[in-house]
Amino acid sequence: MSAPWDAIVIGAGFGGVGCAARLAEAGWRVLVLDKNARPGGKALGVSRAGSHYELWPIAGGPARRSRFHELARLVGVEQEALLCPDAVCEFLYLDERHGRRRSVVVPARPVADPRVVARLAYGLRLPLHRLGGALRLGAALSRLTEADLDALDATPASAWLRRHGLPRPLESFFFALLNLLFVVPVDALPASEAARMLRQLQLGGAGRYHRGGYGSLAEAAVRYVERRGGRFRGGTRVERVLVEGGRAVGVQTQHGAERAPVIISSAGLQPTVLKLVGAAHFEQDYVSYVRGLRPSWALVGVRYRLSERVFHRPMTYVFSDESWLDAARFEAARQGRWPRHPLLFVTVPALWDPALAQPPVRQVALLGGFAPAGLDDPMQREVIARLEQSARRLWPTLERSVLGRERYDARHVSRISRDAVLPGQGGECIGLGQVLGQCGRSKPSPQTPLPGLWLAGADAGASGCGTHQALDSGMLVGERLSARRTHDARREGW
Ligand SMILES: Cc1cc2nc3c(=O)[nH]c(=O)nc-3n(C[C@H](O)[C@H](O)[C@H](O)COP(=O)(O)OP(=O)(O)OC[C@H]3O[C@@H](n4cnc5c(N)ncnc54)[C@H](O)[C@@H]3O)c2cc1C
Repeated sequence: MSAPWDAIVIGAGFGGVGCAARLAEAGWRVLVLDKNARPGGKALGVSRAGSHYELWPIAGGPARRSRFHELARLVGVEQEALLCPDAVCEFLYLDERHGRRRSVVVPARPVADPRVVARLAYGLRLPLHRLGGALRLGAALSRLTEADLDALDATPASAWLRRHGLPRPLESFFFALLNLLFVVPVDALPASEAARMLRQLQLGGAGRYHRGGYGSLAEAAVRYVERRGGRFRGGTRVERVLVEGGRAVGVQTQHGAERAPVIISSAGLQPTVLKLVGAAHFEQDYVSYVRGLRPSWALVGVRYRLSERVFHRPMTYVFSDESWLDAARFEAARQGRWPRHPLLFVTVPALWDPALAQPPVRQVALLGGFAPAGLDDPMQREVIARLEQSARRLWPTLERSVLGRERYDARHVSRISRDAVLPGQGGECIGLGQVLGQCGRSKPSPQTPLPGLWLAGADAGASGCGTHQALDSGMLVGERLSARRTHDARREGW
């Protein structure tokens, strides 16, 4: 008897649901399995004590013409789920040399919009004659061809940005922004990734937000897959990928086995190869390569439920000249040498979508900062304590408004997303780090050496930041697989 499914997708984060939706569109019967009860992965929606929020990711870039627009259109929720295009982000620059605070409020308009550049310059108090570097950077971004970008794969983003001679506050702004977008040190991030992303923001803006929360789009995608003959099973952990005759043929879950000719895993490259399939099914070279891949940092922090309106912008990012992170600064902090203000972001989705917070909760705010991805790394606790200390200084009414406080760290992130299978790995924010030698043309391939096994999501085959990269990867894999089948069908005269 033939398998009831054309494909099994492991994981219903954006990598998984993007792939499943594309396959369903092409007529495949797809089974989507997730260990969590609901779809969304790290963007899982949660309702608790009078408020609704997505666990972690809250907004994304680009804000226009994105893969999220494509997915929302495909699954029929364009009107209800997307988007708040006038989303606003505040950059709070702490000028420690002059003991001043500068606030720059940026709408989600394309960064190339002259009003945004003018606002940045004004907010950072930069005299016009010091804006040459910013103009050179803008011009360089619009001139770069795909070949130029590929040639930047081996150049650190920090070295490339410094070439443009940006004034110090603007350089700090870009470095801090790249830390936030890629969650890796600025000197480990390839300039190709940085330039592609900055150009995407230039053309498409940033700060895309999803009404009802990000997770609602993953849920709509799964409903679409089910309308087209597929199935979503939550609360179902894949324990093993079944291999027969040298190819992946199905999965073993706690509820039994399921079979399909194509298995797509968004459970992470390292957990998939080293745990779900097992190293014995791959050549030693591939296993060593997979073991050697570096994870991104973790984002760790606190979620506050607040009785008052403490924050006035949906997103705030706090940085100084001392707080953006390269590898040396991160290591210094690890050794106990911290800047006065750690990099800190705050997101408050109810400022976009008031329905998300019900009295007595007026705001749910997520604070985050950077730490190693290993589950028990002691630096995480230190980061969280410093974030809270900094937040209390910056928003004096915060403490008296706290109705509830939940700290989150790498262990929580791993529980919702990928398993820890190597030291220093498991709680990564994105997935594999977008670091030199691991992205651009060196990005891990979504096609594994094991026939029948593919990867989708943050670790394989796309570029860009966070959720967008994961969704792009998933949709690309879905497109590639369905095009392949059409090609095979034509060739074999089906
Ligand atoms: C604190 C935090 C804040 C973030 N903020 C942003 C943001 O604002 N904007 C942004 O763009 N990105 C943000 N990100 C990054 C973003 O969440 C990820 O890049 C993206 O969600 C990755 O999607 P994915 O599909 O690759 O993986 P995931 O979302 O991790 O999905 C993987 C899925 O696989 C499932 N799974 C794993 N193993 C198994 C198994 N054995 N059996 C069954 N199911 C399994 C998991 O349960 C999970 O649902 C943030 C991340 C964190 C942690």
